[in-house]
Amino acid sequence: MTLKDLAIGESARVSKTGGNGELRQHFLDMGVIPGTVITKIKLAPLGDPIEFDVNGYELTMRLADAEKIEVISVAEQSRSNETTEDSKKVVSTLRPGSGTAGSTTVGTNKSTAHPGLGEGGKFHAKGDGDPLPDETLLTYALVGNQNSGKTTLFNQLTGSNQHVGNFPGVTVDRKDGAIRGQPNTLVTDLPGIYSMSPYSNEEIISRNFVLNEKPRGIINIVDATNIHRNLYLTMQLLEMDVPMVVALNMMDEVTGNGGSIDVNKMEELLGVPVVPISAAKNQGVDELIKHAIHVAHFQEKPLRQDFCDENDSGGAVHRALHAVIHLIQDHAVKAGIPVRFAASKLLEGDKRILYALDLDVNEKEILEHISLQMEAERGLDRSAAIADMRYSYIKNVCSQTVRKPHESRERIRSQKIDTLLTGKYTAIPFFILIMALVFFLTFNVIGAFLQGLLETGIDALTGLVDTGLTAMGTNEVLHALIIDGIFTGVGSVLSFLPIIVTLFFFLSLLEDSGYIARVAFVMDTMLRKIGLSGRSIVPLLIGFGCTVPAVMSTRILPSERDRKMTILLTPFMSCTAKLPIYAFFTAAFFPKHGGLIMTGLYLLGIICGILNALLYRKTLFKGEPVPFVMELPNYRLPSLKNVGQLLWEKAKDFLERAFTVIFMATIVIWFLQSFNLHLSFIEDSSQSILAKIAGLIEPIFRPLGLGDWRICTSLISGVMAKESVVSTLQILFDGGVNTALSPVSAASLLVFSLLYCPCIAAVASVKRELGTKWACAVAFWQCAIAWICAFIVCLIGGLF
Ligand code: GDP
Ligand code: MG
Repeated sequence: MTLKDLAIGESARVSKTGGNGELRQHFLDMGVIPGTVITKIKLAPLGDPIEFDVNGYELTMRLADAEKIEVISVAEQSRSNETTEDSKKVVSTLRPGSGTAGSTTVGTNKSTAHPGLGEGGKFHAKGDGDPLPDETLLTYALVGNQNSGKTTLFNQLTGSNQHVGNFPGVTVDRKDGAIRGQPNTLVTDLPGIYSMSPYSNEEIISRNFVLNEKPRGIINIVDATNIHRNLYLTMQLLEMDVPMVVALNMMDEVTGNGGSIDVNKMEELLGVPVVPISAAKNQGVDELIKHAIHVAHFQEKPLRQDFCDENDSGGAVHRALHAVIHLIQDHAVKAGIPVRFAASKLLEGDKRILYALDLDVNEKEILEHISLQMEAERGLDRSAAIADMRYSYIKNVCSQTVRKPHESRERIRSQKIDTLLTGKYTAIPFFILIMALVFFLTFNVIGAFLQGLLETGIDALTGLVDTGLTAMGTNEVLHALIIDGIFTGVGSVLSFLPIIVTLFFFLSLLEDSGYIARVAFVMDTMLRKIGLSGRSIVPLLIGFGCTVPAVMSTRILPSERDRKMTILLTPFMSCTAKLPIYAFFTAAFFPKHGGLIMTGLYLLGIICGILNALLYRKTLFKGEPVPFVMELPNYRLPSLKNVGQLLWEKAKDFLERAFTVIFMATIVIWFLQSFNLHLSFIEDSSQSILAKIAGLIEPIFRPLGLGDWRICTSLISGVMAKESVVSTLQILFDGGVNTALSPVSAASLLVFSLLYCPCIAAVASVKRELGTKWACAVAFWQCAIAWICAFIVCLIGGLF
């Protein structure tokens, strides 16, 4: 039997984890290892993927992947105590508040004092040991699972003095900042990961960061409500042999539900300081900082790295690990890789580490023999055996230190919300409703209001500067450059800012609350048909609002391949700036069929997008989409501080661009439009360089029925901002467009406007995410597609 065959609510024990490569490692890292009890919770509304309960958290995977995991039904098996307990935990639904005495019990960590610095002989007292010189910059890596509260903690640690950039070579956000009040420190927020496997981009970035940039310390944030799985990463971090503190986050929820964690015991078992905190409530963060500074300053490495047990299943893994450690010791030292980490990764079959260690042929052979022997003795293949070794130790740690609450209130609340938001019949209507609400509020209410305000402000400022310049008798050209070029151009782009900020406000609410993960779960089946996964739906939807935030929001996508492909598809979603064009032309040419034409245009965009996706999938992005093995975190109230910080970052990012790329582009276009070929300043734009260029490209537009330099000019100006297509046309035609075009040319113009090169702000954001080459490719490709589609419209129109 496989996981796929389970009935809803049925539990089973994993007997074999199938699959290969990234997918399989992902299964193992998420705790789907032989012996784990898994319960099926529900199917997504479209029948795929499935949601499971694994070790008390919710995991989703696709049917095709669930099929690769063999299980034995718990009912069939002779029931061991613990199994029944595990499955009961899932089914029982104690109402909040009925948690009996649980809520009054005080967690052990409250009754036993947490050891301070230098207590219990475990840590150096200040002053002895071998501290780093006082002025050394203490660098930290902040590492943790996704949704463990990393962003929240990072914001608490650094306050506002942070810097955002990219990791070299990849567009994954990199945030640095000094710990507040500790100027000689630098914390780097690494991507949220579940393991240090060599598969996903994020995991490779994180391990390379620790291996190559050699931070002085690691701050490992652990979600205490989901401690079992979170400690899996901790095990691997301990092997890196870098001074480390464990921050047990979400302790407010643990104690609030009557659970407790014996922090002192856990410290003893892990060999590093463990500090209970609540990042959201800013509790324990000061203590965490003290410990972090202390371990890094005194370079206190983890006291233990050895988690394999010689009595565990005959000790096969233990013996193999130690044999490999001895075998590769000299190579590991030479390559600068912590030997214990290298050994366990080698046994897992990690090719990158094997390459980095540069073993000779004999050593490689011995390694292979050791691995084979371990597999034979343990009865599990190598990666499963290592994962199992780690999870056995974690189980041991948890059984000695963690008293789980009967039932978590947050979990029950999440399940209740999910009966609606991922329910079979309600999920999609709610999704549409929520997105519609977000769009309505952004574009019609809040964003539009703020935009109006900003526009008025910019207009007033423009007027002020205009009068000022006139009064000072400024040179005519300079005057025009400042007013018509910079103020008009940059101003029109700036007016996007409120929309973008508002959209991101809602988006980060959805993301931080845990809803986006559900959207991915619900929409995955649909998106997979075009080679993407569920998460891509969000950027695509935002694309109907504005391509700029859509492109920026692709950063929530976990894989580089999905991200690129999604960015290339966003321009096909007709943005709101094109609405004035549609409105204008339908009113003038097709007044009776306005609605029909608008709907048709939107649909045409979507269809072209789908066709392109299918094309990309066969050509540019042949690779597999990332395996969809994803956690559904509990719904949580997002912290305002996080949201505020994010908005500030996005706004700053956008402003930076508005004043660099867009500023330059504005000046260039203004120049082309205000000067003739003899470089003298002109009033009549039909003489301008732009008009001349438009005249040159006019033949290209002739087959589309658009062979008029004024139309070409307006389309070029549409590259600045789509809204300006209509205004340019009106100026150049002096209001007489209606008579200058036939209905067929109007239709072809509409189709062309729908599909051609996105505006400069959008192209700039593509450049920011994917580089100049891709940005140019997008601009060119969109024009080509637009031309073809408009030509087809002309051909069809010519038949009537
Ligand atoms: P990340 O994905 O690891 O960056 O996690 P976030 O910092 O975005 O946090 C995920 C969610 O958990 C957010 O809604 C936070 O408000 C919430 N959260 C973070 N820390 C705590 C905490 O200590 N207690 C509680 N109850 N919620 C928290
Ligand atoms: Mg986050």
